[in-house]
Amino acid sequence: MGVGEAVIFLGPPGAGKGTQAARLSAELGFKKLSTGDILRDNVARGTPLGRQVKPIMDRGDLVPDELILALIREELAERVIFDGFPRTLPQAEALDRLLEETGTRLLGVVLVDVPEEELVRRMLKRAELEGRSDDNEETIRRRLEVYREKTEPLIQYYEKKGVLQRVDGLGTPDEVYARIRAALGI
Ligand code: AMP
Repeated sequence: MGVGEAVIFLGPPGAGKGTQAARLSAELGFKKLSTGDILRDNVARGTPLGRQVKPIMDRGDLVPDELILALIREELAERVIFDGFPRTLPQAEALDRLLEETGTRLLGVVLVDVPEEELVRRMLKRAELEGRSDDNEETIRRRLEVYREKTEPLIQYYEKKGVLQRVDGLGTPDEVYARIRAALGI
């Protein structure tokens, strides 16, 4: 046991986690496990889960931990990059247990740091390009509030464990990507 490896991408909505996680997972041969993407796919297909979470996502609130943890257990792979998970302390604690049980080593937690004005600008631009229904100004404000309240405490949680890598998320995608690889040393 103990052959698995995992990386976590942490950071506010709009920081570019998804883009960077996609590139890193493709280049390293890791599975990208994005809870937001899985939920959006369920909403698009109109599954029972999708119908349940759509109003929550449209408000910018978080989906209950139990639902998210069930998804994670289903989708876990040996080499995985988590994008947008964990987002609450109970999720982080559950992930610790899961990694322990499966003998998976946490290579690092990347915090993609971007100032708030820039986050809003990026999300409004993404709204034009991708038409995500939660990329409107009101929901964006709510998502940032939820991030500060529920997810920001994870920064300290992982800092205490000595696994947090802060990366400046401003600049071109290539620049940010190079910083991430350097920070993780992979
Ligand atoms: P994202 O694409 O990561 O910004 O996620 C979009 C939305 O999906 C969030 O605003 C939440 O409603 C929901 N969501 C995604 N990941 C999680 C998670 N780990 N815990 C709770 N809700 C989540």
